[in-house]
Amino acid sequence: MSEMSEGVQVVDQVATGGEVELDGLSKRYGTVEAVRGVSLNIRRGEFLAILGPSGAGKTTLLNMLTGFEEPTSGAIRINGRDVARLAPHKRGIGVVFQHYALFKHMTVAQNVGFPLRMRRMPLREQRSHIQHALEMVKLDGYATRFPDQLSGGQQQRVALARAIVFRPALLLMDEPLGALDKRLREHMRVEIKRLQRNLGATVIYVTHDQGEALTMADRVAVMNDGAVEQLGPPTELYERPVSAFVADFVGETNFFRGRTVLDADGRVRVVLDGDRLEHRRDVDNAATLKPDHGVDVGVRPEQVSLLPVEGADELAVPGTVSEVLYEGGTALHVVETAIGNLNARLSLTNHLQTRWAVGDQVAVHWDARAARGYHDASRGSSPS
Ligand code: ADP
Ligand code: MG
Repeated sequence: MSEMSEGVQVVDQVATGGEVELDGLSKRYGTVEAVRGVSLNIRRGEFLAILGPSGAGKTTLLNMLTGFEEPTSGAIRINGRDVARLAPHKRGIGVVFQHYALFKHMTVAQNVGFPLRMRRMPLREQRSHIQHALEMVKLDGYATRFPDQLSGGQQQRVALARAIVFRPALLLMDEPLGALDKRLREHMRVEIKRLQRNLGATVIYVTHDQGEALTMADRVAVMNDGAVEQLGPPTELYERPVSAFVADFVGETNFFRGRTVLDADGRVRVVLDGDRLEHRRDVDNAATLKPDHGVDVGVRPEQVSLLPVEGADELAVPGTVSEVLYEGGTALHVVETAIGNLNARLSLTNHLQTRWAVGDQVAVHWDARAARGYHDASRGSSPS
């Protein structure tokens, strides 16, 4: 098969989104295990976010998909076809990087048309593909400009147009909004979602920004130290983190140190350090915990309520408000207690709710269903 017919074949093949299977994928650089045995199935048309701190192995994983890096072991299948030995431009994958990597000496149209020239598409067809891609990213009318005549957001749209111009089944993005300011980033989230819906493409989106992952993705794979620690829809990830690392990296969590005990009713409960012994607390995932082990109990700041001391529940922890940080619709209250300092994020829209001030005595309460115990000690450092 000639170079040309193969290129055209990749272009024609698509439109419906590719199905991707990663099977025990690993990459080792000398002694560094950058990616350790990742197995994932990405569905046709799915938006999958790969979320993790810097150094987790996200880029390495993506580079193996595109073909820029060769796996040490494991398999990659796109639409059932093993692509391990296929050159990058024959995999039918569009890629967008954080630093758009536009060609400065080429116009917008020439930049966007580059993958088509690589694939030796006939000129007339190229023109209509370029026009369509520019319309998709709302840049029609900018075809003859050069990259340095565009804003950062427009340059990122050119990079997007270049990635979709050959109608790839699979679109990979590596921190594509990292170089944009906050407002533009939030706007582009919506734009990229719209683009994906219109294309029907499968998207794998790498980010260290949990907000992007939670708002954009159908499912999120949280990576830590080369491995996938949890895979699930955003709500599941946020509401039922499987480890202290995920609880800490995705959203904010208060952690309290304690021990698990087996109660007479056969249920595992936790006793928090500094808590009085009769305060045996229920946690939502009790059935997954081992008795007589150290445990970190995690509770989200928005699940903590601060009640008046008089008439408080016996499970409430007495505390003193030490800081109140106004956030607009909410205020973050830092409370000092015998089980440690904790954060409570209170809504300010409810006029019936007590407004607390620094120095106030409060009773700290949370619902057992909002608390989860973790035996693993490792935590993610929350992104700023
Ligand atoms: P992320 O994209 O999540 O920040 P990377 O995939 O870039 O993480 O890196 C994962 C690990 O692999 C890091 O420890 C990094 O230093 C290492 N690494 C990445 N590329 C190379 C390379 N070419 N040679 C050696 N080590 C590398
Ligand atoms: Mg990276």
